[in-house]
Amino acid sequence: MTFALTVLGSGSALPVPARFSTAHLLNVDEHFFLIDCGEGTQIQLRRFTIKLGKINHIFISHYHGDHLFGLFGLISTFTLLGRKPPLHIYCHPEITGMVKHQVGYFSEHPGFELVFHTLRFDEPSFILDEKKVSVWSFPLKHKVETCGFIFKEKQRLQNMRKDALEKYNIPVKQIPLLKSGADFTLEDGTVIPNREITYPPPKPRMYAYCSDTKYDEAIIPLIRGADLLYHEATFGSDMDEQAEKTGHSTARQAALIAKAAGVKQLLIGHFSIRYKTIDFLLKEARDIFPDTVAAEDGLKISVPLVR
Ligand SMILES: [Zn+2]
Repeated sequence: MTFALTVLGSGSALPVPARFSTAHLLNVDEHFFLIDCGEGTQIQLRRFTIKLGKINHIFISHYHGDHLFGLFGLISTFTLLGRKPPLHIYCHPEITGMVKHQVGYFSEHPGFELVFHTLRFDEPSFILDEKKVSVWSFPLKHKVETCGFIFKEKQRLQNMRKDALEKYNIPVKQIPLLKSGADFTLEDGTVIPNREITYPPPKPRMYAYCSDTKYDEAIIPLIRGADLLYHEATFGSDMDEQAEKTGHSTARQAALIAKAAGVKQLLIGHFSIRYKTIDFLLKEARDIFPDTVAAEDGLKISVPLVR
């Protein structure tokens, strides 16, 4: 089952051809989740051959334009394409107002329902219960109210052992119960423990998205053990003061968070346009957290299943 992230935009405030503004797409078993929607996100979706119609949930971390300007064009395109399913948008109430105004001003009725979900910026919140995945938001420390997001696969059921099915002649109708952890009782009353007839499912995979934020140790318990952590790294340590002043992080700070949270892999991005190459940002992060990769537009990271 797929659990893969595609970086649609890896840049920061000023989009350039090589680095569009922030947007990520998470594919969980062909259920697509769009996280932030910088200017030109719909172009990137087409460039990386992602079907627009598969996106039903969009998460906007905050109302700075480089995370948001693509939303208006994308909604307009959905309308032109004759979209029918509802589109769920998780965002700040200010954004709800902006989108409603824009849709009302430029479009006829979109032909599909826009469902807005207001984020909380004071505490972590459970925001979406999907078939394969659960999503939480949590507050970050930026210049304006900002949320990060956690996507976690649901725990799968136990898997049946084929040899046990034959050995104990287990009836098909009993299988759902056994997969849920029940023991199996033979006709003579002998109880076969569940561990002898099943084996454990793969571990649920987790993606944590830390949008624009200062260095903030408060998020560490929330993102602990993530398979993949995205943490912004707008600046290098040469710009420590600027990072603090603008509510952003350095690559070193992103790596410190990844290390403290014991994540498996760190993805850094949202690089300032002042850097012509980001090699030294990557080195700065890898010196602290070796399993770091730098975001590039089109970069795809698949998280494997592990038992
Ligand atoms: Zn911002």
